[in-house]
Amino acid sequence: MPDIEGTALKKETMENDILELNNIKSNSLNGFNFSEIGDDHLFTNMDTPMREGAFDLSNEEKKDKIAGLFAEIMDVLGLDLTDDSLQGTPRRVAKMYIEEIFSGLDPRNKPKVALFDNKYQYNQMLVEKNITFYSNCEHHFVPIIGKAHLAYISSGKVIGLSKLNRIVQYYAKRPQVQERLTNQIAEELKAVLETDDVAVIIDAKHLCVSSRGVKDDTSSTVTAYYGGKFNSSSKINELLNYINN
Ligand SMILES: [Zn+2]
Repeated sequence: MPDIEGTALKKETMENDILELNNIKSNSLNGFNFSEIGDDHLFTNMDTPMREGAFDLSNEEKKDKIAGLFAEIMDVLGLDLTDDSLQGTPRRVAKMYIEEIFSGLDPRNKPKVALFDNKYQYNQMLVEKNITFYSNCEHHFVPIIGKAHLAYISSGKVIGLSKLNRIVQYYAKRPQVQERLTNQIAEELKAVLETDDVAVIIDAKHLCVSSRGVKDDTSSTVTAYYGGKFNSSSKINELLNYINN
């Protein structure tokens, strides 16, 4: 005779385990709960975490929805949405989110990169420095303002210089953490240039640190990626010399 009670009990225990797992997943990170993590900028993945069906809605549908939700936030804050100055804000924010500051979430906006043959046989590093970008911290949704410096050593192919800039802008236009932004740009450079010999240095100011929270107005955050031939102190020194001059 099958042990029905035993099976049911087992099923319940399993369900409880799953519930507990989900609880752990949604309430904590590395053993810290979210209130303990507070303002620390932890992140869990090199890919921008996207949910299933992220692009099921059209951009127009997304704008409608965001406008409605943002109006609700403003309303909860107690703002008078019939005021002439505030009336258009929910739409304006929605349009800005989709078309500008978060447009890099949509893979259709990824810059198309054409490669050219390295006709001049230039075989030293090429550095594109001081690329200004504006991103947004994914933990506070306030701006990150910074400079990106990119470098690569051609594997036989070169890309237009403006494309380096466009790659930075594409990945910056997402809710971001600086470490991920750095790596995403590096991975993209490696893929399009067909080489591991790329470097990315980012120096950025996080408004969530300077305008609120600890209110440190002078600090900036530096992150770096050194791939392939850039993994040597002589190459890194050479690169830093170009950047600092
Ligand atoms: Zn932040």
